[in-house]
Amino acid sequence: MKFHSTGPGQGRSFRLAEYFDIELRIHWSFAALAGGLGLWVLAETGSLRAVGAILLPIAMVFTCVVFHEYGHALMARHFGIRTQGITLFPIGGVAVLEREPASPAQELWIAVAGPAVNFLLAGLLLVGLLASKGMPSELLSAPSDASALGWLLRVNLLLGTFNLLPALPMDGGRILRAALALRMSNFAATQIASRVARGIAALMIFFGLTRGQWMLALIGTFVWSTAKAELVRAMVRDALEKRQGRWGSSLGRDATQGDRMQGGPIQDHPMPMQGDPRTQHAPDGEWIQPPVRPHSRDSD
Ligand SMILES: [Zn+2]
Repeated sequence: MKFHSTGPGQGRSFRLAEYFDIELRIHWSFAALAGGLGLWVLAETGSLRAVGAILLPIAMVFTCVVFHEYGHALMARHFGIRTQGITLFPIGGVAVLEREPASPAQELWIAVAGPAVNFLLAGLLLVGLLASKGMPSELLSAPSDASALGWLLRVNLLLGTFNLLPALPMDGGRILRAALALRMSNFAATQIASRVARGIAALMIFFGLTRGQWMLALIGTFVWSTAKAELVRAMVRDALEKRQGRWGSSLGRDATQGDRMQGGPIQDHPMPMQGDPRTQHAPDGEWIQPPVRPHSRDSD
């Protein structure tokens, strides 16, 4: 398990840009998918315009995702946590934080920041929409029959709302766990949050299978397995912290404080209906954590 200067999985991605000293990257699977889709549309229609009509809305959605991820990253920076990079996957973005938030409150604020950016953008778009009344309608023509601003407004509302679903590893699940961890141990909080997430995942799988929404069922499976993995991780951490509490009293930290250490890469799934099943495990791999060091803990 590595957790150094380059984030896990970033080696298989391409650099797109860099904002606020944080690299923005695109995973090869996403680049291949978008490139393949563009070529397929071009081969079918022979029209670059048609290619643009397909790829432009995707680019617009992911621009909103990028804003969302930078929301997480900049809030993390506010708490002194560097972000190794932001990588775009077909099913969403992943911001890899260099270390874990030092407290449940920090995790809560970092998790809230992403959806908050989308709601802020929605608000700004609403203002723009109201101000644009009277502009020639062709200027606002959009990927759909609605106006571009209206469409983007809905995209941001959807992104913000969907990510607030209280299902680990989504932002809402992190918020739930952090809120619980304010009044109990991280392990107990993760137990409850994981149970809630698996309940939601079960519903997703049930509705997905009974209504033929295979992608929903797939996301349910993904949420289920990740929520389970979070629980296992918390169990391991809990066991290590307890051992440390017994053996390492000279370090001057108690196990409860250790329990409150938590977090991990921020993971978002903005385009659940367009995810490629073959990439479902890609963001999952981003959940690699720094090994818990029983005898030292960075406090910077
Ligand atoms: Zn998020």
